[in-house]
Amino acid sequence: MEKKSVSIEVSHITKRFKDPSGGKTVTAVKDVSFVIEPGELVTLLGPSGCGKTTTLRMIAGFELPTEGKIYIGDDDVTQLPAHARDKATVFQSYGLFPHMNVFDNVAYGLKIMKLPKTEIKTKVMDTLKLVGLEELAGRSPGRLSGGQQQRVALARSLIVEPSVLLLDEPLSNLDALLREQMRVEIRRIQKKVGITAVYVTHDRTEAMSLSDRVIVMKDGVIMQMGTAAEIYQNPNSKFVAGFVGKVAFIPVEILGKEGEGYACSLQSQRFMVPKGLAGLAPGAKASVMARPESLRLDEPGKGFLEGKVSVNIYLGSSVETFVSTELGDILVQIDDPARKKVWPEGSNVSLTFEPELVRILPEE
Ligand code: ADP
Ligand code: MG
Repeated sequence: MEKKSVSIEVSHITKRFKDPSGGKTVTAVKDVSFVIEPGELVTLLGPSGCGKTTTLRMIAGFELPTEGKIYIGDDDVTQLPAHARDKATVFQSYGLFPHMNVFDNVAYGLKIMKLPKTEIKTKVMDTLKLVGLEELAGRSPGRLSGGQQQRVALARSLIVEPSVLLLDEPLSNLDALLREQMRVEIRRIQKKVGITAVYVTHDRTEAMSLSDRVIVMKDGVIMQMGTAAEIYQNPNSKFVAGFVGKVAFIPVEILGKEGEGYACSLQSQRFMVPKGLAGLAPGAKASVMARPESLRLDEPGKGFLEGKVSVNIYLGSSVETFVSTELGDILVQIDDPARKKVWPEGSNVSLTFEPELVRILPEE
C-alpha cells in the first residue's frame, strides 16, 4: 500500500433536496468549505440531521452538490460519478457477502480487477494481517463478531488501495467496549496506511479520540474546525462547547474588555476572565464556559456562586461532584481525589474557577 496521500478540498458546497411529497426544498448543506491535508483523518461531528452524511456522500459521488466544487488531490471530481472516484466507503452496515468467506470477501475487488491469483493471495493476507484477521481467512462472515465483520469491511475497502477512505458511523452497531477498541484500531490502520480519511459520527468521544481535526456541524453549516484540544478548550460558541464536552454556562454581564478577556459581573460581583471570544461590548449578556475541571469548591461565601453538594461519583482517578445551585446542577471534577478534599454530599459549598481554564462566550 505505497501510494501517495492526497488532499480533499470541499469548496462552497450547498445541497438542496426537493421533498418529493410537499415540493418543499430542504437545504441539507449550506456553503460548506474545508481542506483535508494528505494523510489526515478529519471527522464530521454533529447532531442527527446536521448534514454529515450528505457531505460525505458528495465527496463519495453518491450525491452531486447543488452548488460548489469538490477536489480530490488536484482533480476536480465535482461531476465525476461515484465509481470513477478513487475512494472507498465503509458504512454502519458492513455489507459483506454472506456466502463468501473472509478471504473471498476481501479478495473481491482484486478479482474484479483481474489480478493474478498469487498476487491476490499475497495482498489479501497482507491486508488481513493489517486488520488483525489473518487467522480467520476461512471463516464465513456469519460466524464473526460485529467488530470482526467491520474489520473485514475495512480490509475489503483498503485492499484496492483507494486514495481516500470515507467512513459513515462505522462503529454504531457495536457495543461500547468494542467501539472503544475499534476506534483505536481504525486510527492505527489509517495512520499505518497513510490514507486521507473522512469519518462521520455523532459521538463526540469517538470524534475527539480518533481525529487529527474535527469539523463540528449544525443545521448544514460548519460551526468550527480544529483539533480536539482546540474545539474543547477554545470553542467559538456555546453550541460547540456543549456538543464536544461536559460544561456549565454561567450567565454574566460584560463590564469591559481587559486584554484578551473581559471584566464581568455576576450577581453584582465583579470578576475577571482572562480569555474570551472577541467583540463583546459593555452591557452585553454573555456566559462563562466552565468545564468540570475548571471549577473548584470552597467554603461558603468564598466563591462566585453558592450551592450544596448533591452527589459524589467516584471514578477512581477523579471524583465528579454535582453541586445544586440556583443556576441548576453544576458538575465539578476533582482530580487525584486521594490527595484532594472531596466535600461530602450535603455540604454547603461555594464555587470558584481557574481563570485560565474558563472562557467568555457570547449568548446564542
Ligand atoms: P446527518 O448525517 O448529519 O444525520 P443527513 O446529511 O443525513 O444528516 O441529512 C441532512 C438533512 O437533509 C436532513 O434534514 C435530512 O432529512 C435531509 N436529507 C438527506 N437526504 C435527503 C434526501 N435524499 N431527500 C430529502 N432530504 C434529505
Ligand atoms: Mg448520517
